[in-house]
Amino acid sequence: MTDDDEAWIDVSVTVRHGMPHWPDNPPIVMQRAMELARGHACNLSHLAMGVHTGTHMDAPVHFIHQAAGVDQMPLTATMGPARVIEITDPREITADELREHRLQAGERVLFRTSNSPRCWQADRFVEDFVYISEPAAEYLAETRVRTVGVDYLSVGGYHADGAKIHRILLTAGIWIIEGLDLSAVRAGRYDMICLPVKLHGSDGAPARAVLRPIA
Ligand SMILES: [Zn+2]
Repeated sequence: MTDDDEAWIDVSVTVRHGMPHWPDNPPIVMQRAMELARGHACNLSHLAMGVHTGTHMDAPVHFIHQAAGVDQMPLTATMGPARVIEITDPREITADELREHRLQAGERVLFRTSNSPRCWQADRFVEDFVYISEPAAEYLAETRVRTVGVDYLSVGGYHADGAKIHRILLTAGIWIIEGLDLSAVRAGRYDMICLPVKLHGSDGAPARAVLRPIA
């Protein structure tokens, strides 16, 4: 491993058979369709899952009729400087807390909440994860940040109006990363690379996300 390899921190979740997913989304099935141990020429896996599995991105068409698919995302939405912001509220991401961080137009912001060390350890879907409140979503839209990343499966809460939060952000042209695991990073500035799989016209796509601290 080179020094460069050590500098990059993987903030994506490993996709695995039977992993937790949003309750009404399809289950994650990953199985060997061919296997050396069974006399086949190679190991070859079959994968079936929703596109909003693990670390993934949402495209505008997820909640807006005939809007852009994930394959139309500009690469600059998720490649470049990003800021990890530590959220202290244990229940939701509030507009008041975000205002303290003086977000700027065009910023890529990732919210590290108590979800990161808590939710990904669970072997079932966690309902009471920390999510973006409606006033906070409005604030992000007004500020015109470029990209927002959250550390569990939705920007909106399970018991709140998640559709509304998605619509506020996506209508404002904000690109959404969901399902990050930010437990290995602290608040601060990073270079980010997060690339969703190029799925034609898709409302979402699994992604690999990595961060490198900016010295
Ligand atoms: Zn999603």
